[in-house]
Amino acid sequence: MQPLTTRSKLVVHKEMTFWERIYLPAIFKGMWTTLKHFLKVTFGKSNTVRYPEVKRPVAPVWRGWHVLKRDDQGRERCTACGLCAVACPAEAITMTAAEREKGEETLYREEKYAAVYEINMLRCIFCGLCEEACPKEAIFLTDRIVPSDYVRQNFIFGKDLLVEGATSETRIDVSKRQKHITEKQPTV
Ligand code: SF4
Ligand code: SF4
Repeated sequence: MQPLTTRSKLVVHKEMTFWERIYLPAIFKGMWTTLKHFLKVTFGKSNTVRYPEVKRPVAPVWRGWHVLKRDDQGRERCTACGLCAVACPAEAITMTAAEREKGEETLYREEKYAAVYEINMLRCIFCGLCEEACPKEAIFLTDRIVPSDYVRQNFIFGKDLLVEGATSETRIDVSKRQKHITEKQPTV
């Protein structure tokens, strides 16, 4: 019968030689290949990055770990309007709104604020729609990578992990993202 292709090979069941039967040459050949790669990665030029000690540079507009911003006076900008949660295609955002009490004007910018604000990082697809939906410039994605963990519960990021610090040293700079977003907006 004519073969359909020319790729078929005739398999020959030839007797194994003495060296093939003891397997040692094949084992040493395999170990030599492993050693070559090990030396190349350790001492030579390699594309392998020793994460997390070494991190690849990411784009300034990388969409990673979110930040809830404060205003110039250190007050939380988020007013718990819920637009980010509505815009989120992964339903990763949940929040509980509360009314600002007398004397809390230095903590929260608006009369309503998010008493609880949580993002499930396992659900999040880092699309950035929450950032675009926010009318208060309160939420931004940053170039920080969400760390890995073995416990699912630890991926529910609350305000303790989302709200930036109140001091200038602990603020998170999102000016590159803001610039990028501004450039995208159509001029009217
Ligand atoms: S980045 Fe996208 S998926 Fe993640 S919380 Fe924001 S809207 Fe939801
Ligand atoms: S982050 Fe922005 S969109 Fe989301 S609840 Fe707060 S103010 Fe509204």
